[in-house]
Amino acid sequence: MLSRRVELFVESVIRDMTRLSLKYDAINLAQGFPDFPAPEELKRTAASAIMEDYNQYSITWGAKDLRAEISQKARKYNHIEYDPESEITVTCGSTEAMMASMLALINEGDEVVVFEPFYENYGPDAAVSGAVPRFVPLDDDYGIDEDALASAFNKKTRALILNTPNNPSGKVFTKGELKLIADLCIDNDVIVVTDEIYEHILYDDRKHISIASLDGMGDRTITISGFSKTYSVTGWRIGYALAEKNLTSAVRKVHDFLTVGAPAPLQHACVAALRFPDSYYEELARMYDGKRKLLYNALTKAGFGCQMPEGAYYILADIPEGVDMDDMDFARYMVSKVGVAAVPGSSFYRSKKGRHKLRFTFSKKDETLMEAARRLERLNV
Ligand code: PLP
Repeated sequence: MLSRRVELFVESVIRDMTRLSLKYDAINLAQGFPDFPAPEELKRTAASAIMEDYNQYSITWGAKDLRAEISQKARKYNHIEYDPESEITVTCGSTEAMMASMLALINEGDEVVVFEPFYENYGPDAAVSGAVPRFVPLDDDYGIDEDALASAFNKKTRALILNTPNNPSGKVFTKGELKLIADLCIDNDVIVVTDEIYEHILYDDRKHISIASLDGMGDRTITISGFSKTYSVTGWRIGYALAEKNLTSAVRKVHDFLTVGAPAPLQHACVAALRFPDSYYEELARMYDGKRKLLYNALTKAGFGCQMPEGAYYILADIPEGVDMDDMDFARYMVSKVGVAAVPGSSFYRSKKGRHKLRFTFSKKDETLMEAARRLERLNV
């Protein structure tokens, strides 16, 4: 009685782990949301926006002043130019921006290139939009195998999904890699849908590069970002999609009938967010750098195999040698017996490689991470 579409995917394992974490009173290093307060100024602005009666629908594709600020930010930070009137859509999180983009682009049976490991949502995004995902595995250091990538393209390829900085791997794609992707997309007439939600969370002086800023890519890229991660407001559900006029008009159509619009008072507060000084972003990256090192040290001490992430706020760790459980069983053991929730690696892989991995987030207070470190010491392997 149900649609074939919903049979193609399961409920989010990440959000399921959050529920298990609550059940066992574990420390939730599964889902990527902060357990520390959002910036005071944003909370005040949101509260006064409600009191000032920004309480009715905003324009479907986003409040005018927010689109104007997003356009300026995109010019300054991403080096891309999009017209706020016709090329920017404010959505209910980047999650909706991704789904609306896929529904706007894909015909049943079109292929979409996705790097593996991938963010969990892209599988269901493909399933709901009727796309056939073509996974391209990255190597053990998350480098691109050029031949594997080139051979993933064919006449049916409609889009490529990119995510940089990457969840779960922490990889930040280099300019050379982006150029390689761009050249293939131009040669094969393919659209890039790029999820750049972690664009401000970078380490060791890395710089964020938006693929839309590369020659020939402005008109064939949908750039997605949002406020959840940069401003620690994952519950506000405000994101956006930037794309040339025709693409935007298709995304807007889908968005309009999916959600009508993103929450009006919170859009108002997001204008204030985009006016934060540069020091805010420097402090954000510095704060996460400290947390990154804390979790890395705790995991390596407990026997996990880890690479230092280059960006975003996750560590995708190899399960310690000597553990005789796959990722699902070990994640269950961790949450129920050790008191730390993580996400089974197979949520991020179609291949078997994920069965030896768990993903941990470090988007938590230092004291939360330190308590997790203490509990990880109980892991006797
Ligand atoms: N994209 C990636 C890569 C993510 O990791 C997440 C959240 O974890 C999202 C999108 C969701 O973003 P939003 O809260 O804007 O929907």
